[in-house]
Amino acid sequence: MKTAIIGYPRIGTLRELKFATERYFDGVLSKAELQDIAALLRKTHWQTQIENDIDFIPSNDFSFYDNMLDTAVLINVVPKRYRDLRLDYLAEYFAMARGYQGVNGDVKALAMKKWFNTNYHYIVPEIEDDTEISLVGTKPFDEFSEAKDLGIVTKPVVTGAFTFLKLAKFTGNKTPDDFIINIITSYSEILKKFKDLGAEWIQFDEPALVMDLTADDIVLLNKIYSEILSAKGSAKVLLQTYFGDIRDCYQDVISLPFDGIGLDFIEGKKTLELVKQFGFPADKTLFAGVVNGKNIWRNNYSRTLRILDELRKTGGDIVLNTSCSLLLVPYTLKNESSLSEEYKKHFSFADEKLTELADLKKITASNTPAEIPEYIENIRLFKASRFCPDASVQAAVSSLSPEGFIRHPAFYEREKIQKAVFNLPLLPTTTIGSFPQTAEVKANRSNFKNGKITLKQYIEFNKEKIAECVALQEKIGLDVLVHGEFERNDMVEYFGECLDGFLFTEKAWVQSYGTRCVKPPVIWGDISRSKSMTVDYIVYAQSLTRKYMKGMLTGPVTILNWSFPREDITLKECAFQIALAIRQEVLDLEANGIKIIQIDEAALREKLPLRKSDWHSEYLDWAIPAFRLVHSGVKAQTQIHTHMCYSEFSDIIGDIGDMDADVITFEASRSGHAIINVLNRRGFKTAVGPGVYDVHSPRIPSTAEIKAALLKMLEKTPREKLWVNPDCGLKTRGNAETVPSLENLVDAAREVRRSLQP
Ligand code: GLN
Ligand code: ZN
Repeated sequence: MKTAIIGYPRIGTLRELKFATERYFDGVLSKAELQDIAALLRKTHWQTQIENDIDFIPSNDFSFYDNMLDTAVLINVVPKRYRDLRLDYLAEYFAMARGYQGVNGDVKALAMKKWFNTNYHYIVPEIEDDTEISLVGTKPFDEFSEAKDLGIVTKPVVTGAFTFLKLAKFTGNKTPDDFIINIITSYSEILKKFKDLGAEWIQFDEPALVMDLTADDIVLLNKIYSEILSAKGSAKVLLQTYFGDIRDCYQDVISLPFDGIGLDFIEGKKTLELVKQFGFPADKTLFAGVVNGKNIWRNNYSRTLRILDELRKTGGDIVLNTSCSLLLVPYTLKNESSLSEEYKKHFSFADEKLTELADLKKITASNTPAEIPEYIENIRLFKASRFCPDASVQAAVSSLSPEGFIRHPAFYEREKIQKAVFNLPLLPTTTIGSFPQTAEVKANRSNFKNGKITLKQYIEFNKEKIAECVALQEKIGLDVLVHGEFERNDMVEYFGECLDGFLFTEKAWVQSYGTRCVKPPVIWGDISRSKSMTVDYIVYAQSLTRKYMKGMLTGPVTILNWSFPREDITLKECAFQIALAIRQEVLDLEANGIKIIQIDEAALREKLPLRKSDWHSEYLDWAIPAFRLVHSGVKAQTQIHTHMCYSEFSDIIGDIGDMDADVITFEASRSGHAIINVLNRRGFKTAVGPGVYDVHSPRIPSTAEIKAALLKMLEKTPREKLWVNPDCGLKTRGNAETVPSLENLVDAAREVRRSLQP
């Protein structure tokens, strides 16, 4: 069996691409220098795969920002407002990704959305009525040729036409059908070009096929591929799916003239069943996703071999593949010097997964697999017990009663009580929590970590920053203040470090969007809180102001979703363990005089199953209770806020309401405030702060712009339920844009407030 991967991370083992791109944004690096660094990274990544004996090495999995955006640009899906800026290729590309504010104009970034059920975010292409889809770009071909010049014949990867059309936003009156001829022509040309360049296989990524598909979707799929494939000639086309099974279109897919089909045997609950039930054509190659592309745990070879035994019965060629792109896992364990071998031997990052593929290749090729040392060692690893359980945590979870999940009194009662005690102005202004993480803030943390400063010095510095931040917010005139989160590297890692049960890595970064990376902690054991985590800083911040200081916590579902979870207990059990720990912190803050507590569930929607039929049974039925458990013990007079990093929750709005928070803030600016209409229609009870400007872009919103957004929201939102805030935390921004943006926000709120006074 040969080996393949679907895609490889691109940001660099030490985040070289991130730093280079940011230096380019700052004008420190030229375009040519940035491109040189990118080429070097691509070369290194290809070579790593060669060293690990990977047979199908992807190209065009590289991106300066996002592959979806790359595909849009490739086929001329560039909205007019960006073309009108008349920028060069790369600058236009980044304008779409991040917005542009400069001599050529002022345009916001395109919307960004979660990539299926991951913490990666893609840029949403916009197809306008007069968009002329045609193959205009050269990136995939350039990168294929670049590898070829290095002597590596790669398997180019391009987002498939179906997924592209499903994820793109149609801004005018036209629908996918209106663009289908041009799409087909463009993709046929892509195939032809690759064939001419000497590609043997071309991979079209179609993760959208694992979603619930309608009859129309299936017609669209058949139409697209019967046409594209009719022009393919001798080039071999691999249809690659991932993040689930393709139960709605399996029979269509195997009937189409693909040369290879990539299926996910990890997240695809029904994949094996589909293959058994409907067979797999012996004239096609099955790219079997048996090595998990998302988790960080070692592959269980015995289990994998059992799947492969089943697949062998189909009689066709099998290629050992990852279940999805390795973009979603860190690079390598080699850079983890402080984790002990005891733990590390259970881990597998991207490079170790390459080794696993190579091991499996060796084992499957052997007549005496049981004698292969790698196999013997793997069996031993999985036989040994791994976790050290904490009986008291497990007992606390198993003794939870339904009553523990209900907050008293009920929402409307609390609303009345809170209105009276808080006495906030109409349209209260606030922020989501973090303030800019300047170089000195980061230096303080790293100096402390490296032992260059004492704990006392470290805390003193943070307190100084908190004092500055409180003073700044008072000066700007915000109503509900925050402490600024200067002690937090990351909203999940910070809590992971304070809680028991987590492990940490040094360099295990994973790209979240663009140049942003996260370093998820690893859940190793049972989780508990042995000390307070935020109380000192928050109480100190509150002591500096007469305004309300929000306590700032991360919720259990987000902590879980942004960590690498255990696989030996259920996610539900793990979420409840975390919930109980955060609950203690909430009660501790309340006992120390904090009246408003925000519990961020930034990532709540992230792990929502891709298929609707699984939403409740597999996820919401424990995720929402986990959140309720965190705050059900507080008094009526304590106001609970939550925050979410997206606004696509119209379809789970009832569940969001069931979280029973008093106030919810969320992203709304990039997606055009569409959610407001839904909230209104559904009579959403929770007070809302739909973000009035986009913090993922360095643009400064004007007062008029924010005012207009507020007036628009007020058409559909009762005035007593509306809060005014940016759409997310400010940590990735600089002070230069943050201060004027917040000043404009406060001005806008005041002006609108004045216009509302009777
Ligand atoms: N309180 C966090 C912050 O402001 C929330 C971040 C997030 O939603 N991703 O940074
Ligand atoms: Zn957010």
